[in-house]
Amino acid sequence: MPVFDHPDFDHHQQVIHGCDAASGLRAIIAIHDTTRGPALGGLRIYPYASEADALTDVLRLSRGMTYKSALADLPLGGGKTVIIADPRRDKTPELLRAMGRLIDSLGGRYITAEDSGSGEADMRVIAEVTPHVGGLGRDGSSGAPSPWTALGVFHAMQSAVYHGLGRAESEDQFAGLRVALQGVGHVGTHLARRLHDAGARLVLADVERDAVTRLTGELEAEIVAPEAIVDAEVDVFAPCAMGAALTPEVVRRLKARVVCGAANNQLAHAEVAGQLQARGILYTPDYVANAGGVIEIAWQRRDDARPAKVAAHIARIGTILDEIFARAAQEGRSPAPVADDMARERFEAG
Ligand code: NAD
Repeated sequence: MPVFDHPDFDHHQQVIHGCDAASGLRAIIAIHDTTRGPALGGLRIYPYASEADALTDVLRLSRGMTYKSALADLPLGGGKTVIIADPRRDKTPELLRAMGRLIDSLGGRYITAEDSGSGEADMRVIAEVTPHVGGLGRDGSSGAPSPWTALGVFHAMQSAVYHGLGRAESEDQFAGLRVALQGVGHVGTHLARRLHDAGARLVLADVERDAVTRLTGELEAEIVAPEAIVDAEVDVFAPCAMGAALTPEVVRRLKARVVCGAANNQLAHAEVAGQLQARGILYTPDYVANAGGVIEIAWQRRDDARPAKVAAHIARIGTILDEIFARAAQEGRSPAPVADDMARERFEAG
């Protein structure tokens, strides 16, 4: 499996293949960059069709974490781990401990956390064999990052709504604002509640019918079919489900003037950013908007962590986006490449 010639290889500092015959572990850890600090990034457990697919995913995701941490002002670099396995069938304590030993062998250069296929309970098992784990929670509180991610997306939306719709931040900034949420899972549910409390009118869609029906009464929301959410007559479209939600076709159909959501890798490919810009739709770079969870995990590593301090740090997502949107407008570019440039300026400078 060639690494140096891989199209997604981006001068990653280290790519480690790990195997444990007894537990069936087959994992890849990619450390993209540690200039700003140890590489933090989640553990994804997924039944990849091939080792090549797993390698592509871990190279892309680890690089994304470097950018995310740099723009979130964290003293961290970017890394990621993938385990080639079905989390429902293959995830055993033995497999997780074997994973933990591999992480431990890196001596703290890489810190793991939750991602698709892994949760807080799994982090506790890994923590039996290595201290290099985040997302555990403290003092009886949950380590789940999604409420913090939703808080960050809310701040991101405040900035995007100002720059994209001219509605300045105030108590009634979201009053009557129409927002479509694609996906009301962990993050989408918290975000929907925040938006409802701020006076927004919600349109919701989820492939899991139960997920939306549970919320409609509480949030007085309109429900539409998953395939119709991109056509909703709204001001803001919030992708909170899977990656690659923004394809050229979706961009043609969107009625919203602002896109701001939690999903990772929203752009199906880089050119979609230009298509959004050409249609006058303000795109909020996903890894900036959804950094709330990683900010909270980073704070868990500090002795002086307090919810108010974490919340204040997450609020700075809005400030960095103000800078990104202003620079994008000044340079006549999409906010997506502007965010990438600003992140590189930070981690390349150290
Ligand atoms: P989740 O799995 O809890 O929720 C996703 C929801 O989207 C589910 O309810 C699912 O049924 C729904 N969905 C899937 N496909 C859909 C479709 N085509 N149309 C409508 N709904 C669909 O995941 P989550 O933790 O809420 O994360 C949501 C997104 O945000 C993911 O892309 C994730 O990578 C990203 N993200 C999450 C966090 C976090 O803290 N959880 C942090 C950063 C980024």
